[in-house]
Order: sequence, then structure tokens, then C-alpha cells
Amino acid sequence: MSEAFDVLVIGAGPGGYVCAIRAAQLGLRTACAEMRDTLGGTCLNVGCIPSKALLQSSEHFEEANHKLADHGVGVGQVTLDLGRMMARKGEVVSANTKGVEFLFRKNKVTWLKGAARITGAGTVEVDGKTYQAKNIVVASGSESIPLPGVEVDEERIVSSTGGLELEKVPGHLVVIGGGYIGLELGSVWRRLGAEVTVVEYLDRLVPGMDTEIGKTFERVLGKQGVKFRLKTKVVGADTSGEGVTLKLEPAAGGAAEELRADVVLVAIGRRAYTAGLGLDAVGVKLDERGRVVVDQHFATSVPGIYAIGDAIAGPMLAHKAEEEGVALAESLAGQHGHVNYGVIPGVVYTWPEVASVGDTEEVLKQKGTKYKVGKFPFTANGRARAMGDTDGFVKLLADADTDRLLGAHIIGPDAGTLIAELAIAMEFGASAEDVARTCHAHPSLNEAVKEAALAVDGRALHV
Ligand SMILES: Cc1cc2nc3c(=O)[nH]c(=O)nc-3n(C[C@H](O)[C@H](O)[C@H](O)COP(=O)(O)OP(=O)(O)OC[C@H]3O[C@@H](n4cnc5c(N)ncnc54)[C@H](O)[C@@H]3O)c2cc1C
Repeated sequence: MSEAFDVLVIGAGPGGYVCAIRAAQLGLRTACAEMRDTLGGTCLNVGCIPSKALLQSSEHFEEANHKLADHGVGVGQVTLDLGRMMARKGEVVSANTKGVEFLFRKNKVTWLKGAARITGAGTVEVDGKTYQAKNIVVASGSESIPLPGVEVDEERIVSSTGGLELEKVPGHLVVIGGGYIGLELGSVWRRLGAEVTVVEYLDRLVPGMDTEIGKTFERVLGKQGVKFRLKTKVVGADTSGEGVTLKLEPAAGGAAEELRADVVLVAIGRRAYTAGLGLDAVGVKLDERGRVVVDQHFATSVPGIYAIGDAIAGPMLAHKAEEEGVALAESLAGQHGHVNYGVIPGVVYTWPEVASVGDTEEVLKQKGTKYKVGKFPFTANGRARAMGDTDGFVKLLADADTDRLLGAHIIGPDAGTLIAELAIAMEFGASAEDVARTCHAHPSLNEAVKEAALAVDGRALHV
């Protein structure tokens, strides 16, 4: 008899491993299949965690080189030990992936090692063995989208995975794609000494972000030395000589030109990864972009098979995948799992950071919603001045009639942490007035949030 589970999750990324832990906590007999040697998926192995480790290390290098002197701290000759920086990144990743292994043991989740394939309703094959499962959860994640004519070799032309592993700082790094992954990795290598050029097809960075924040972001990164080629497409790469010669064309068409790079990072987005799962054979429907089609309970077109995370529609973010994992596990255990897609924060971990939650002005205009804007600059925040980090502002959008918060957009120091206050406020249906009337510690960066909330009603105090 093959082993039987209540829930068998395929993929141990933040969607899958969290779903498995929650299902096990709720008393369901749970297994999680993962074909990588370590748990944690893209996020822990080659995504969120290693990129944040390098962002942190490179920011320390940047501070030592350019910022500490301003504070009266002299550090003499600053040197870079890239090998140590990479080794530290590896240690951080390993501590996190081992942490998930520990959590699996603690919660009695069985890790099925190997590639899983769904062989029929309620049966999954992993590494030649068949398992029975009342419920199968596809949490197979995503992969980088390739760019035709610019083939990734993970040495001179790299995906984000290779971009986290470079053995030396490139002289000139060209990043194709002005999304958050390209900008974060571009920031890392610029801080470590590379000249960085970002080539973006659209006329703006991080599409979907509030336009005003996007413009400020471009200006701030430009001040740091990042060069931008917007409205430009890369149509080919020549690797016959040393380095890479890219062929660029204006997005709207026109004369081609060449751009030489030592390393090219292709970061034009990610797409759902469902290869080898056998979804076709069992009749699980995919949409036109290869994502698994699910209903609001994460059920696919085949009874007993569910999907979550990057493999389905929605923002490709670790915390969105986690929320879905928890909601699905709770539904499978007879509870009422739910994800509020209106309140999913997004953060770009450059410095300054950029963070947003809820609607942008552009979306509110499209919806025809009347709204008020409250803004407050970090130049007028005492803590930001004390830190020497005054670039950016907080921008809040509130319903013109009810004052309910509809969106929050921040560029500035620790924006990724500041946004949590506004996500909670929005989750509770708070008004701008609620945030404005809440006592905020002084001197804190959060006071800029409070002042922006006051500004919604035209009564900011410190500007
Ligand atoms: C460089 C980079 C930086 C990022 N930074 C952030 C960030 O700061 N914040 C954020 O929120 N998001 C970030 N992301 C996105 C985040 O990593 C993803 O949104 C998240 O990992 C999605 O989780 P998931 O569980 O859906 O899938 P994944 O994490 O992709 O995990 C899927 C797992 O399934 C496994 N798998 C697939 N098929 C099979 C099979 N047939 N059998 C067994 N196993 C299988 C894969 O090996 C993989 O381990 C980043 C991504 C990248 C690439």
C-alpha cells in the first residue's frame, strides 16, 4: 500500500512550506515534495533572502565609503572582500533553509525529496514512489522569463540567480528590466563599484508603482550613479568578443545602437513554473500566461487539486504566497481561510526603500474614485535628518467622502517597515484621521506617516 496523506504540497517555497506547516498544525497528515536539495523555494535559496543579504552587506560598504565620514566616523581605507560577502550570504541562506527543515520536523510534515508528478486524481509520484493524497496543492512557483536573442549563460549574461553569484565586481553591468529585482541587484553591484545601466522598455521604472514615487525613485537612483535607458528595447547580444555587446533600439522603433557590458543581468520578469507536474494529463487548466487557473478557494479545474503562490495569478511576492498557503490550509481543515488582495504591501529594498500598499492615484482615477492626497517629505522629519537620510516622502490617498485610507506609497528610509503600519490601518478599514490621531513616538520615521495623514486634511504640523 502506498503512503497516504490528507494534504500533499508540491513545492517548498514560501507558499508551499507555509501551507504544509499550517495544514499540519491543524491536524492534517501532511507531506511536502521538493526537488531542490534545500527547502524554502526561490525565496530562501535564490530570491528574497540572498538578495537582502547582499543588499545589507553592500549598503554597509557604501556607508563606510561615502556616508560615515559625514557622521564624523573615519574608517581609513575601505576594502571589499567579495568572497567573504558571498560566504556570509550563503550562511544566511543556509540558516533560513535549515530553519524550514526544523519547522517541518517540529510540525511533523514529511519532506518527500525529489520531483513530483501528479499521476491521477489523488495520486502523486515522487522519485519513483507513488503516494495517495486527498488534497494536492501545486505550489511550484516561478522562473525567470528568458529574453530571445540574449541567452543566459549565468556567467556573462546572468539571470537573477547568476546575478547573486558574480565572482568579481563587473566594470559595467547592464540590467535589462527596471523592475524591483533588477533595481535591487543593480544597487548591490553599483555600491560595490560597478557602473550600472538599466535598460527598460517602458517609460518608467517598476510599472504599477505610483507615478510620482516612480519619478522620485529614478531621480534618487540617478543621483547615486545608476544610468537609465528608458523606452529602449534590447534586441540582441553578441558574446563573440570579450564581455557582451548589446543591440538596443528605441521601444517605438528606430535606429539601433550598441551598448557594451562586462555582465548583463536579464531581469524582465518571472513566469509561472509548472513543467513536469503532469497538469496537462490530469486536465488542470492553465491561463494564457501559463498560470494555474483557480477559483477564490484556490481550487483548480480538477477536484482535489489546488494551487497557490507564483504558480497562480496575482503579485509574485513571497508574503502573498504565504497568505494563500495559510488560507488554503485552513479551508482544507474546514475553516474559512481568506486573503485580502486589496492589502498586499510591495517593497523594493534599495536605499532609500520604496513601499506601497493599496491603490495608486492612477488606479483610483481609472476607478473614478474621488480621493484626497496627503504628503510629507522626509526632509521635514527630525529622525530622518538625524540619520542623514532625507530623500523621499510619504504619500497617503484617502477617500474624499469617507476619509478611508485607499493607498499608501512611501519612498524613504525604512519604507518597507513603515508601510506595515498603513497595511494594518487599511486592514482595519481606518481613516486618515485614525492614523493622524494615533500618538506616534518622537523622534521616529513613523512621524512622517502621521504627518502625511494630517496632510490629507491640510493640517500637517511640521511642513
Ligand atoms: C532575486 C529575487 C528576489 C526576490 N525578492 C523578493 C522580496 O524581497 N520579497 C518578496 O515578497 N518576494 C521576492 N521575490 C519573489 C519570491 O521569491 C516569490 O514570490 C516566492 O518565492 C514565491 O513563492 P512560491 O512558494 O509560490 O514559489 P517558489 O518560492 O518559487 O517555490 C517553488 C518551489 O517548488 C519547487 N518545485 C517546482 N516544481 C516541483 C516539482 N514538480 N516537484 C517538486 N518540487 C517542485 C521548486 O524547486 C521551488 O523550490 C524575489 C524573487 C527573486 C528571484
